[in-house]
Amino acid sequence: MTLSSKFLVLGLLSLAAIVLSASTAKIRASLISSAPIASASTLPNTPPKNKKIPIIVYHHVRSPKLFGRNTWSWILSVSPDVFEKQLQWMDDHHYTTIDLSTYVQIMKGERAGPEKPIVITFDDNNESQYTDAMPKLLNHHMTAVFYIITHRIDQKTFLTKDQIKDMSAKGMDIESHTATHAMLSMIGTTLMDKELKESKKTLEEITGKPVLHIAYPLTAQNATVRQHARDAGYITGTIMDPRTATEKDDFLKLPRITLNDGSKLEKLLP
Ligand SMILES: [Zn+2]
Repeated sequence: MTLSSKFLVLGLLSLAAIVLSASTAKIRASLISSAPIASASTLPNTPPKNKKIPIIVYHHVRSPKLFGRNTWSWILSVSPDVFEKQLQWMDDHHYTTIDLSTYVQIMKGERAGPEKPIVITFDDNNESQYTDAMPKLLNHHMTAVFYIITHRIDQKTFLTKDQIKDMSAKGMDIESHTATHAMLSMIGTTLMDKELKESKKTLEEITGKPVLHIAYPLTAQNATVRQHARDAGYITGTIMDPRTATEKDDFLKLPRITLNDGSKLEKLLP
């Protein structure tokens, strides 16, 4: 055997060892978690078409039948079974859920991301988001962003601190919806800063993770609010505006599409 062929054999042997250990690690990982969640590091690197990423928003996961059609209570509710059907539709149409930090990286061209990314968000920390929404998301191997009003934590019908911790541990993204749900554009900058900073700090203490995203309560924002949000350390801010976000959208004023029992996903999503 010549020297170069010896090196070839050695090279092939070490390659086989790498492949073998990688597949063992994969098997081990799949044994540990039977329901792996797509994280930024496991996402396929296919560029999204034309950099359009829908961001959707839910509030209550509950039957809207008690409310008059097109009242706010009706608009902000989705029945558990319709929610499940909408997740199945996204699955069937090959959407991959991403978080907002990944959204920013994709839009800046810092990473490619999945072929059809989507951001699912929830506002107002209603308890149904833990009892009805999260189990369905986990079944579909999906993640979502939960915007929390910190003064409502542990109050009746709202998420508890332990539930928020559990959601974060299960891969859900916990972000800010201010401290008191104040309309930020209607209050002075001192109160505005308090709302922005206090909620961020409280949530970071609960989850041990950075809070970098905010949903402006009732979509109330302007240039001053966006500047103060940026100064407080937020990299995105979201509003309710029923269209798909594109790379032209200001990160601090991202549109979100409200989904409910009346939504036609084939018309609303790209
Ligand atoms: Zn809200």
